[in-house]
Amino acid sequence: MKVFNLACEHGHLFEGWFASHEAFEEQQNKGLVVCPFCESNVISRQLSAPRLNLSGATHKSSAIVESSGVHPGNEQAFNASAAQMLEMMRSFIAKTEDVGKQFAEEARKIHYGEAPERSIRGQATDQEREALREEGIETYALPIPSFLKEPMQ
Ligand SMILES: [Zn+2]
Repeated sequence: MKVFNLACEHGHLFEGWFASHEAFEEQQNKGLVVCPFCESNVISRQLSAPRLNLSGATHKSSAIVESSGVHPGNEQAFNASAAQMLEMMRSFIAKTEDVGKQFAEEARKIHYGEAPERSIRGQATDQEREALREEGIETYALPIPSFLKEPMQ
């Protein structure tokens, strides 16, 4: 048994029960399917059931879009924290000495008192940072934009 959602030419909606899809088509072709409201036999099938499922799926994916930060409120918050981040990097750069690739070596010297204590910045590989960490020297990876690395006027 199949239940079809049907509509007549006047937009009346009703359900029709048929043994099979073929049975429905055969009865429709013979004009035996009639609207219970106006007795019109110009009937078409409605896709209301699949459409309901589809709208459910669409709703689910729009929820994902919202949580990924497209929401205007979230965007504003992100801009504020990005500005704060930039400010933090500027003061970090102003307060630290650039030792470049000597970073790991210099960090060790400071740690063991072989060099004056100060804040430094520079490049280090993951292995170098891991080795420093094992020696009790904490380093912080900061993604500094290249334009901030230029000497400030
Ligand atoms: Zn009708």
